[in-house]
Amino acid sequence: MNRETAEQELIAHIDGLEILDSHEHLPDEADRPAAADVLAEWLTHYFSCDLISAGLSDQGLVQARDSRGDLLARWDLVEPYWEAARSTGYGRSLDLAARGLYGIDGVRRQTVGALNEAFVAARQQGGHYEYVLKTKSRIALSVVDSNLGCDRRYFASAFRLDNFIQPTHRREIRDQGRGVGVQVHSLEDWEEALRRQLGRALDEGAVVVKHGLAYTRSLHYEKPTRAAAESDFHEFFRAARAPEWRGPMQAGEALQCHMWHALLRLADQQGLTVQVHTGLQEGNGNVIADANPVHLTNCFLEYENVTFDLFHMGYPYVLELANLAKNFRNVNIDMCWGHIISPTAARLALTEWLDTVPANKIIGFGGDYCFVDGVYGHQELARRNIAATLAAKVADGSFDLARAREVAGWLLVDNPRRILRLGERLPAPAPTAAR
Ligand SMILES: [Zn+2]
Repeated sequence: MNRETAEQELIAHIDGLEILDSHEHLPDEADRPAAADVLAEWLTHYFSCDLISAGLSDQGLVQARDSRGDLLARWDLVEPYWEAARSTGYGRSLDLAARGLYGIDGVRRQTVGALNEAFVAARQQGGHYEYVLKTKSRIALSVVDSNLGCDRRYFASAFRLDNFIQPTHRREIRDQGRGVGVQVHSLEDWEEALRRQLGRALDEGAVVVKHGLAYTRSLHYEKPTRAAAESDFHEFFRAARAPEWRGPMQAGEALQCHMWHALLRLADQQGLTVQVHTGLQEGNGNVIADANPVHLTNCFLEYENVTFDLFHMGYPYVLELANLAKNFRNVNIDMCWGHIISPTAARLALTEWLDTVPANKIIGFGGDYCFVDGVYGHQELARRNIAATLAAKVADGSFDLARAREVAGWLLVDNPRRILRLGERLPAPAPTAAR
């Protein structure tokens, strides 16, 4: 079968799938920031960073986001950078959203006024999440980062305990402990507070643990002695007389490592999946080397029963991630954010992963947006990328069409359901003849 025919077949198949979404930052619909217009909301993150790297000043971005200003004047401010960045994954996702959700031909000077009217009207009308996530994006469920009270029609929550690894002030330690009925005087108390906090989150419906500290430290966590961790922890109490306004403290390395291991031990005992940010960090001016997934190797070796879900294709460490997922039963690849970081990298990486990594270990989509319209653009790119990648496999004879269809279902439905333990939140999968 030639590539074009296979791709058409696979697009039709994939467009018919109701998919799972491994990672979002969406607020509930009722909690969307007030008074936003389309530029303010769509420049919350991602494409705004492309505008900055294209040359927009920090002050220019602040003005562009300010919905009190005149829309066209703000457009004029960003236009040269927008045109420069239009064809990045971030830019294409927004153009897809304009077209698919509002019937407007991309975001440009001639269209931005009409686009904004449609955007504001949709907000006022309500039911926009139902329209975007269910009707248009055909997403059965999204795992949302740290929103335990999330709207269960659309979301299940991941839960972060990062502040137990990097506390910043003694009063924060005190308040975290009090929140779960522990007066914290010792490292042992701090571990008990962690255990209770995790238990409470699970009771409130959290499905996975999320680690997001690759923005502020390396992913390499040594295995320090308890004495070293205690010494670091006690530093917070040596500063006990410090007034409330005292600035944040940097937690010692031994304490940070100890608490990450304590968290993994709990995940091991409770059979939890741990999502880890690896690769590209959002924003401008980050340290990418800190986020190399290879840093986690000692943890993969030690916590062989903990399921790790490594985010963002590890971009640009996509081959390191292939190596890790090939070596370790407990390491999985997650393409969340990936199809918009670089649509080409997503296709190339998936092409290679399907040659190196068993296909039950790859989660094909996670929107990773703070605003809902972006999720639509991202899932469109994800479906097309997966169809094109699998079609190439059919054309070169390494897959037949039945295998390609089956793998598409694994990437977008079965793998996230199993790896993220979402089965209880969803109706049972329909049996298919292929399995
Ligand atoms: Zn994220």
